[in-house]
Amino acid sequence: MTPSVPRAEAVLQVWERGRHEHPIDRALTILSLFGGQPRHELAAMSVERRDAQLLGWRTALFGDRLPGYSCCPQCGCGVDVALSIDAEDAPDGPVTIDVAGRTVTARMPTTLDLVAVAGCASIEESSAGLVTRCIEDGTQEIDTELARAVEAEWERRARLSAGVVLLACPDCYHHWSLGIDIAEFLWRELEIHAIRLVGEVDLLARRYGWSEPEILALSTARRRLYLGLAS
Ligand SMILES: [Zn+2]
Repeated sequence: MTPSVPRAEAVLQVWERGRHEHPIDRALTILSLFGGQPRHELAAMSVERRDAQLLGWRTALFGDRLPGYSCCPQCGCGVDVALSIDAEDAPDGPVTIDVAGRTVTARMPTTLDLVAVAGCASIEESSAGLVTRCIEDGTQEIDTELARAVEAEWERRARLSAGVVLLACPDCYHHWSLGIDIAEFLWRELEIHAIRLVGEVDLLARRYGWSEPEILALSTARRRLYLGLAS
């Protein structure tokens, strides 16, 4: 389900706050200011579900087509990239893995987990830290084999959800997938959108003498109409 389009004022609030934040925090700022859900709840949500919600807002604001296209790795044919959102179905429950005769259960990482390992010196250290935090049986010894198995399962889950777009070639019917960092991608689009909104406020304020809140409260259609008349 696609959420309703966020208000122009909310877009500017996200930009104002997010520009000084770490990308992990920005994702929470976008979701809390658009959706109204408390930050601590969003931080405890799995990253898969977070991304599915971000994708929902992206679709509401900018549609489900991505600018540009991908090329078929088999025949080189150009293909438009469309996003599919299924926030309700984002797999969120724990994963169970059998590795070398042991069965372990690990929950999906959340924003709180990402923040906890953000300061690690190396990728190895941060991935071991992430696995340790998410394994539900604290008595398990975390060795490399176990850590890799958990990560592979997370990866498999991630492919089923928001951050990955499945593509099919119209020419040779080859299928492939494209991973996008939706949090980063949406932030860049919001930045451009916010700067454009400020430009529109500037123009309409000069022309009609209206205040910023008055201009931002106009629907997009009405704002565009006045912009057409003013320029
Ligand atoms: Zn092809």
